[in-house]
Amino acid sequence: MALFRKKKDYIRISPNREEHPKNQPSVPDNLWAKCPNCKKTIYTKEIGQEKSCPNCGYHFRLNAWQRLAITVDKKSFVEFDTDLVTKDPLQFPGYQEKISQMQSKTHLHEAVLTGIAKIDGQTIVIGIMDANFIMGSMGTVVGEKITRLFEYATQKSLPVVLFTASGGARMQEGIFSLMQMAKISAAVKAHSNAGLCYITVLTDPTTGGVTASFAMQGDIILAEPRVLIGFAGRRVIEQTLKQELPDDFQKAEFLLAHGFIDQIVPRNELRTRLSTLIKLHTQKGWLSNE
Ligand SMILES: [Zn+2]
Repeated sequence: MALFRKKKDYIRISPNREEHPKNQPSVPDNLWAKCPNCKKTIYTKEIGQEKSCPNCGYHFRLNAWQRLAITVDKKSFVEFDTDLVTKDPLQFPGYQEKISQMQSKTHLHEAVLTGIAKIDGQTIVIGIMDANFIMGSMGTVVGEKITRLFEYATQKSLPVVLFTASGGARMQEGIFSLMQMAKISAAVKAHSNAGLCYITVLTDPTTGGVTASFAMQGDIILAEPRVLIGFAGRRVIEQTLKQELPDDFQKAEFLLAHGFIDQIVPRNELRTRLSTLIKLHTQKGWLSNE
């Protein structure tokens, strides 16, 4: 009888569920954690500041402040544009409350942290998106902060390093969030026209309008291993195409093999790699043979 059918018959697990379980990638505060990749139980202190599994190297998600701490020189960061206020143009129910909750939870004032900093003594402007803040979604303030970041970098002739992590445009701001894609792209183009270097680092997950604009506009596009990168969700594509997609579809490794990104860099090598790339691309005369 259907009434007594076992409950598990109703449960459907999506193919990606194991690798990206809900609420799983952040490291719990407990003493022990289970790695979602190798399934081993690990002592949380062994995960270290870089938050990688000591057994298989799986990268747990970092918040913007943790990312900043492992990327830039100590005490070199100065934050930009903390006075921009998120508006509610559609009067979306509960939106303002959600923003306040996120602000106190993440200690960020929006889904991207921007500012000026140094890597190995080299000055850069840096942006770090945080997936913990409404899925790193791109609203008007995120768009404006990233645009101003590029305008500042262009004015001061500085390279830009941008860590992306986003679910895409922010639905609570409707068309205003979609317009950010064009606005940021124009600022990226002006920075590029000035002969300046822009490096993107794609982190888990980078999707939607962010992938469709500034995440893929970097002169050099790096990614962390096994990161989810895509535009539409897997299920939407499968339903539209009416065919099954490969298991590693929308993974950094798949994108590298198909020429979408330049290199996959493990987290513990990222700071050194960024430092080398910045040195190569900012030395005077390197590009112009002066
Ligand atoms: Zn592991």
